[in-house]
Amino acid sequence: MPAPKPYLCKHCGETDPQKFFKQNQMKSCCLKCHTIHVHQRQRVLKLKAVEYLGGKCTKCNYIGVPAVFDFHHLDPSEKDFSWGNKRTSNWDNLKKELDKCVLLCSNCHRELHDAEWFDGLPDHHPEKLRRIGGLAER
Ligand SMILES: [Zn+2]
Ligand SMILES: [Zn+2]
Ligand SMILES: [Zn+2]
Repeated sequence: MPAPKPYLCKHCGETDPQKFFKQNQMKSCCLKCHTIHVHQRQRVLKLKAVEYLGGKCTKCNYIGVPAVFDFHHLDPSEKDFSWGNKRTSNWDNLKKELDKCVLLCSNCHRELHDAEWFDGLPDHHPEKLRRIGGLAER
């Protein structure tokens, strides 16, 4: 009987089975290194995505590091995509998504969704009355 393959991370040399995914075949990359790889891949993809959409905020022309940018779906029936799922796991899928998105800095993005949310409120909603009241006082 051949001995089962031991746990050995090819990146950092980790051999403690506790530090690996349980019950799967990935015995040559520990959890910690795997997480780092996934993050690195996402960073690279995000950078590429930001450049693909022009590298600046569509609304305020802000230019900055990829971390400040969000991708906003133009079709309100579609959810803004999140990183780390199938739709964004490779460049081809990602590009298809990006073609339906605009690049916004997180400030503009929040503002935009806030406005959408506000517009969607019924007229008697306390938040709407509060803001309208606040504007009228000025
Ligand atoms: Zn490792
Ligand atoms: Zn902006
Ligand atoms: Zn959005």
